[in-house]
Amino acid sequence: MQQGNVMKKILWGVALLALVAWLLALPQQVGAVSVWWWRQQFILLSGLGAWLLMSLVMVLAVRPGWLERPMGGLDKMYRLHKWAGIGAIVLALLHYGLDLSKGLLLMFFERPGKPVRAEWWLNVFRDVAKDFGEWSVWLLAVMLAITLWQRFPYHLWRVLHKVLALVYLALALHAVVLAPPQWWQQPAGWLVGASALVGAWCALLSLAGRIGRSHRHGGRVTAIASQGADVLEVACQVQGRWQHRAGQFAFVNFGDGEAAHPFTLSNADTGRGEVRFAIKALGDYTAGMASRLQVGQAVRIEGPYGQFDFRRDSAPEQVWVAAGIGATPFMAWLESLQRAPQDAPRVHLHYCVRNAQEAVFADRFRSLCETLPSVVLDIHHSDEEGLPRADDLLAPASSAASVWFCGPQGFADAVRAGMHRLGRSPAHFHQELFQMR
Ligand SMILES: Cc1cc2nc3c(=O)[nH]c(=O)nc-3n(C[C@H](O)[C@H](O)[C@H](O)COP(=O)(O)OP(=O)(O)OC[C@H]3O[C@@H](n4cnc5c(N)ncnc54)[C@H](O)[C@@H]3O)c2cc1C
Repeated sequence: MQQGNVMKKILWGVALLALVAWLLALPQQVGAVSVWWWRQQFILLSGLGAWLLMSLVMVLAVRPGWLERPMGGLDKMYRLHKWAGIGAIVLALLHYGLDLSKGLLLMFFERPGKPVRAEWWLNVFRDVAKDFGEWSVWLLAVMLAITLWQRFPYHLWRVLHKVLALVYLALALHAVVLAPPQWWQQPAGWLVGASALVGAWCALLSLAGRIGRSHRHGGRVTAIASQGADVLEVACQVQGRWQHRAGQFAFVNFGDGEAAHPFTLSNADTGRGEVRFAIKALGDYTAGMASRLQVGQAVRIEGPYGQFDFRRDSAPEQVWVAAGIGATPFMAWLESLQRAPQDAPRVHLHYCVRNAQEAVFADRFRSLCETLPSVVLDIHHSDEEGLPRADDLLAPASSAASVWFCGPQGFADAVRAGMHRLGRSPAHFHQELFQMR
């Protein structure tokens, strides 16, 4: 199934779950039906939806390995994490907006008598929970703005993003204390309680720095080589038991005070813990790596993650599109096929770059393809030919061919649109996402 569809199904599934639980609880809600009663019910519905999405965000944040396969890889899980987070914040803002609508409604509708006040200590508790909700919603709104504003520096965004685990715990108190008492005998209350328990556990794991700990390995840099003006190849020796499938990636921390960054393992597994990364200078950190990295220095590698694997595909023919630094998983695939060239599927490999200077892996691709007769390599220079059109990339392949893509998002969208135009199934498009925010 197309991975974008899996994401949409999960998001709509959570929304439906909230709606059904809310509808089931509706008849038990006390009070005469009026505009105020409905306002209260919609506050509860938006709150429940926001809470379930936020809990999903928290679960995905701890990188649960068992979700990788059904979701199509950690990169897709982070995409769901991002959109569930955006959905949760939008619903939380709606929830708060409905709460603030009191003043406006009072101008038009008379308010029924105030409900009987509970014990004073319970009221204090409820007021604290309300305050937690109010502060959190403001923090979430700021987070939404800087997430959507892609130019906000990533390392600062990351630090702020970490604080969200604390915000989640504050919101857990808000949700549990302010859920209507009748809900606790209903699916709505069970959902609130169960998601609060699971989500709070995940938030604590995050705050304790335990995310991905069981996947961490020490290692050393064994070789560094420049490829062209802005690509650095870094080889490392990993300590302990290490195994990866071609096409997977790892989070690499070079011990320079910077957070771990995700890079694809550009070689096939050798069984001896040797790994290679090809890193393009795409931002502040990666641009300074060439002058900072040294052979012999320690590294910490967390992984492997990812499901970008052409072997999962039963299509009789495949089109591989490697654009720019997106060449890395394909180099690992081709290397992994050297041991058994007869296992290689029928492939049209398109290596797409701006010009010959940028085609730093062209020779490597040529030599790897030499031993694989079923793989046909084409190199495209967009400065001369323009950006390759999907029709041209797909033309040599049959309509049943699948497409495996790694490269810039705009190019991916164009290829997908081209497939749609040609009447090819979107389920045959597979992409490795090089972006997690
Ligand atoms: C699954 C995956 C595989 C990748 N494989 C490769 C590869 O083989 N070769 C390669 O050159 N690049 C690869 N990347 C991209 C690489 O991770 C980013 O280019 C790099 O982290 C940019 O860091 P920067 O600080 O220099 O740039 P910045 O300008 O600070 O960041 C640019 C963007 O990179 C991403 N990013 C930055 N820091 C992190 C981080 N710590 N964790 C997660 N994302 C971050 C964010 O989306 C950010 O908006 C891959 C990314 C992903 C998600």
